[in-house]
Amino acid sequence: MKKLGFGFMRLPLLDENDVLSVDVDQLCRMVDTFIERGFTYFDTAYVYHKQQSEVFLKKVLSERYPRDRFQLATKLPMPMVNSVEDNEKLFNEELEKCGVEYFDYYLLHAMNAERFEKAKKYNSWEFLKKMKAEGKIRHIGFSFHDDVKLLEEMLTLWPETEFVQLQINYIDWENPSIQAKECYDLCTKLGKPVIVMEPIKGGSLVNIPEDAEKLFRDYAPDASTASWAVRYAASLDNVMMVLSGMSNYSQLDDNTAYMENFVPLNEEEKAIVDKVVDIINSSIAVPCTACGYCVDGCPMGIPIPKYFALYNAELQALNKGFSTQQTYYTNMTVTLPKASRCIGCGACEASCPQHIGIIDGLKLVAERFEK
Ligand code: SF4
Ligand code: SF4
Repeated sequence: MKKLGFGFMRLPLLDENDVLSVDVDQLCRMVDTFIERGFTYFDTAYVYHKQQSEVFLKKVLSERYPRDRFQLATKLPMPMVNSVEDNEKLFNEELEKCGVEYFDYYLLHAMNAERFEKAKKYNSWEFLKKMKAEGKIRHIGFSFHDDVKLLEEMLTLWPETEFVQLQINYIDWENPSIQAKECYDLCTKLGKPVIVMEPIKGGSLVNIPEDAEKLFRDYAPDASTASWAVRYAASLDNVMMVLSGMSNYSQLDDNTAYMENFVPLNEEEKAIVDKVVDIINSSIAVPCTACGYCVDGCPMGIPIPKYFALYNAELQALNKGFSTQQTYYTNMTVTLPKASRCIGCGACEASCPQHIGIIDGLKLVAERFEK
């Protein structure tokens, strides 16, 4: 398999404020080009796009291509598993939504300490093994957002794990909260191949500070900023797949062009990335990936990732002497609750895989934009 997977988490939209308004025509063209260029791996999940990503995948992929032309990965939504029976119910629903008879890769989704307890309580891992024995899953694993100690505990209890999906990108590699390097090293030591998610960190490694971008451009004028991030992750020996959530045709065109005949980063390129990391670390205020996991549980309905994206852009824009973020914030808060409406209940922080101090972050947003 080529090392680039098509993530169905951020699909092209007709209306950017409506995640259900997927641009199906554009998505079909993207899928066609992806397959024409020899790529085969698709990744979705029960919860993406308000639980409709799998349905869109059926429409653009499994109804249009023979099953042996692609590999499909999806995930068991652990927050929705509240009984032993839920494993099977949700799994069968996913087969139906995706329009397939089996999954090539099946994962317990976004595992952390709480979800690990839940998976043990409701026998979710035993269920995956059973589905594999029945031929409804080819490979079993999990995606993971916690520390290396827990990862070791899980891999010890579940030695049948065939792969682990980790958040790896050049900015998180040595981040003490994410522990990307430690988790990758453990998987390598135990012989578990790694699938990379968020190689571009939710798009934030595309809009990097100008002086960092210049370092990339000076070395390779035609290479996109995204290509450096994807190639960085793909250059790790134990990485079997890098997922990219491509949101329009031009992103797909770019990604598939440089990944069709993938060349790992050389030593000079790695040194440039190190310098870029230093520059970015000194400029990103809130390391939000826009995954949206925090939003559903917020009793005030605060669009947390949107505000953090504005805040980060504002701080970077200030360095460049150009800012339109205040206007966006003012416009957004006509219909959406302001950051200052946060009551500090903490529900969001418990679900944030980046371990962001959201409550304090929202205070900064309010100070910046609500003066
Ligand atoms: S702490 Fe604030 S932002 Fe987080 S869930 Fe509670 S009200 Fe929402
Ligand atoms: S604050 Fe955390 S949970 Fe919310 S969108 Fe950002 S990274 Fe995801």
